[in-house]
Amino acid sequence: MYDVLIIGAGPGGIYAAYELMKLQPELKVIVFETGHSLEKRRCPIDGVKVKSCINCPVCSIMTGFGGAGAYSDGKYNITNDFGGTLYEYIGREKALDLMHYVDEINMSHGGEGTKIYSTAGTKLKKICMQNQLMLLNAQVRHLGTDINYVVLQNLYNELKDKVEFRFDTRVHHLEKLENGYRAEYEGGYADAEKCIISVGRSGSKWMQTVCRDLDIATKSNRVDLGVRVELPAEIFSSITDELYESKIVYRTKKFEDNIRTFCMNPRGIVVNENTNGIITVNGHSFEDESRKTDNTNFALLVSKHFSEPFNDSNSYGESIARLSNMLGGGVILQRFGDLERGRRSTVKRIQECTVHPTLSATPGDLSLVLPKRILDGIIEMIYALDRIAPGTANDDTLLYGVEVKFYNMSVDLNERLETRYPGLYVIGDGSGVTHSLSHASASGVFVADEIVGKAE
Ligand SMILES: Cc1cc2nc3c(=O)[nH]c(=O)nc-3n(C[C@H](O)[C@H](O)[C@H](O)COP(=O)(O)OP(=O)(O)OC[C@H]3O[C@@H](n4cnc5c(N)ncnc54)[C@H](O)[C@@H]3O)c2cc1C
Repeated sequence: MYDVLIIGAGPGGIYAAYELMKLQPELKVIVFETGHSLEKRRCPIDGVKVKSCINCPVCSIMTGFGGAGAYSDGKYNITNDFGGTLYEYIGREKALDLMHYVDEINMSHGGEGTKIYSTAGTKLKKICMQNQLMLLNAQVRHLGTDINYVVLQNLYNELKDKVEFRFDTRVHHLEKLENGYRAEYEGGYADAEKCIISVGRSGSKWMQTVCRDLDIATKSNRVDLGVRVELPAEIFSSITDELYESKIVYRTKKFEDNIRTFCMNPRGIVVNENTNGIITVNGHSFEDESRKTDNTNFALLVSKHFSEPFNDSNSYGESIARLSNMLGGGVILQRFGDLERGRRSTVKRIQECTVHPTLSATPGDLSLVLPKRILDGIIEMIYALDRIAPGTANDDTLLYGVEVKFYNMSVDLNERLETRYPGLYVIGDGSGVTHSLSHASASGVFVADEIVGKAE
């Protein structure tokens, strides 16, 4: 019998384990993780022999110690303006305090020396407003993929002798016992008085089965759809030099949809992402000067939410991503000039392009994939950005599609992030409450504090 079972070793699970061990080291805590330990996580795509996703049975990008965050750009956004709705459960001040606390942990585990950026008092805010764009408020700690990895290594080294980690062990069933919970995995089970589920996006389907079996209410969430834009770093330097990552929102004239920038990677690379076998696009950047490229990339996303009669936003996003995979065999790449002229990009046109793509993707036509409303909005926003960063709407700006942000359905939780079963908590992206490193990590600390009775 354990005191606490944690399912999932992404940021949510890791920071919960860290806080439990810090506050009450005598607790018996076990962490189950479908993926590998950190040092065994390796994506086979090397750009030479393996150029695109080969659908490994266990994806090293999305699963393993560090979760989806391990190979991320390590941008910890300290804000209630985006990244999740944790503040709706625990209050704005508490949520921000916990995000700062997570930042302190990161700094004391290898992150010291990394930069923190802030929108407060920037010139960009005014320039955005003057051009019908809105810059959201945030502080951003940029660890970079490399330092993020070091922080995870240090956290693991500190926890490994205090917490029992079971890697390569997927929990396939969760049972409610009279005095706790039983996690069943292939070849065994473990019981504990309390259980924290932190299975992220990759565990979304499993989370649905848990909610169905235990009759926990859920609500459909939104899906974000769009493209990743790649252009010469100089064009965006006035934005990225001051802030590194800025979330800019534009309200389209035609449909009055909100479109926003997401995940900016100054001098970074564009990468494939595999979500349940569907290949979409994402981006990374590195702190290490030698790994920087000449290009900056960021996503332009539109949120879609369905209610009646269709309410499965994720399936809508999946279908569009599948369509791009069907036409392009993976991610599709198009020059902005080709999109505007209503023609596909070809290998020749991409070769002649002055911007060199950092991801090998199939030249094609995104207008055959993305719904008109979304594509029109993206084009409008590119022109709006061109007013604050001239050159954004150049013919050679590259667009990769599709980028999809799937959100888990929202699990019915109280203000302690607890389900209707006492002692059963759901945190991080798997709960539908968070969708970022900082919010997921903060939710882990919060629940650990609840469990040991520290929270006021
Ligand atoms: C490429 C990429 C880049 C990103 N960049 C950023 C960024 O810069 N900034 C930012 O804020 N966010 C970023 N994100 C999002 C961020 O990584 C997530 O919001 C965050 O990791 C969520 O943490 P989590 O612990 O809730 O879930 P996850 O990190 O998804 O971890 C969940 C873990 O649970 C495990 N699991 C699932 N089901 C089971 C099961 N049944 N049994 C056992 N284990 C299970 C999974 O294997 C996984 O390791 C990025 C995501 C990706 C994919």
